[in-house]
Amino acid sequence: LPPMDSGQRLRHHCSELERLQRERLQLQHALRGAAGRNELSLVYQPKLTLGSRETVGAEALLRWHHPRLGTISPGRFIPLAEATGDILDFGDWVLETALTQLGEWRARGAVTSDFSLAVNVAPRQLCRPDFAEALLGRLDRLGLPHHCLSIEVTESGLMADVDQARRQLRALADAGIGIGVDDFGTGYSSLAYLKTLPLSLIKIDRAFVMDLVDDPEARHLATTITRLAHGLGFEVIAEGIEEEAQARLLEAMGCPLGQGYLFARPLPAADFLAWYGRQAVPGHAP
Ligand code: C2E
Ligand code: MG
Ligand code: MG
Ligand code: MG
Repeated sequence: LPPMDSGQRLRHHCSELERLQRERLQLQHALRGAAGRNELSLVYQPKLTLGSRETVGAEALLRWHHPRLGTISPGRFIPLAEATGDILDFGDWVLETALTQLGEWRARGAVTSDFSLAVNVAPRQLCRPDFAEALLGRLDRLGLPHHCLSIEVTESGLMADVDQARRQLRALADAGIGIGVDDFGTGYSSLAYLKTLPLSLIKIDRAFVMDLVDDPEARHLATTITRLAHGLGFEVIAEGIEEEAQARLLEAMGCPLGQGYLFARPLPAADFLAWYGRQAVPGHAP
């Protein structure tokens, strides 16, 4: 092809922008009502102790399958749903589905009584004045003890509308719900600032875990985050562990918990339970 002149390039860029804009609108349109049309599902990824490799709980992650557009990754549709407000419907659906699932697992004795399920919560949800109350009401209605649920909020989520979020977090923490900071180290919050919020867990972002083996600085950072977090009374978990060497290094630097493809990918409920059953220590019923 001959090189484009500047006019052609401009027209090319414009049509590219139009295409992206069209795609976004199409997705935005498809998003509306996805929960009601049964297009959403949850997958579950285990959280393990890095030493003894015991499963202590799981994180519920949202999946969206559109009949025509196919499967769309959360990286694409979650930010869009946050922008449109659809995340509020999705969030309700996620909580109801995850808690119902957990109730069922517990009733069948399929998970231990201290098995803890984590659900991701978007900033918009936290800014709802009745968020904590509705969540606690849900747990009570399903007969679930508060210690078996925790929420994960991203650093940026904790910076937005701090006052409203603070009230909701306080109410949840007072009720015994664990609150974790997701993707820690990617935002601008300091541990000192986070200490002013009623948080219980820091999740070290995958970015640090990825470079652990080859990069002494990443190792240094992960070690420092772990020490500081422990010193401030937070629990610590690392996400995105893909290699045994990473798990070993993290454990050696004092990080007790981990999550990642090394142990298991996020799995549909039935597959997760089968995986969980296979992990059970012989002689100890799960
Ligand atoms: P997140 O909460 O930090 O979840 C971790 C993401 O890393 C998940 O991507 C998970 O599938 C992926 N992951 C886990 N282990 C590994 C690993 O070893 N290697 C690699 N490369 N990736 C790993 P996923 O499921 O695509 O979710 C992406 C993000 O979307 C989540 O990040 C979370 O911020 C958001 N999200 C997912 N479900 C929900 C939800 O129900 N509500 C809200 N508000 N956000 C959600
Ligand atoms: Mg998370
Ligand atoms: Mg994360
Ligand atoms: Mg992440």
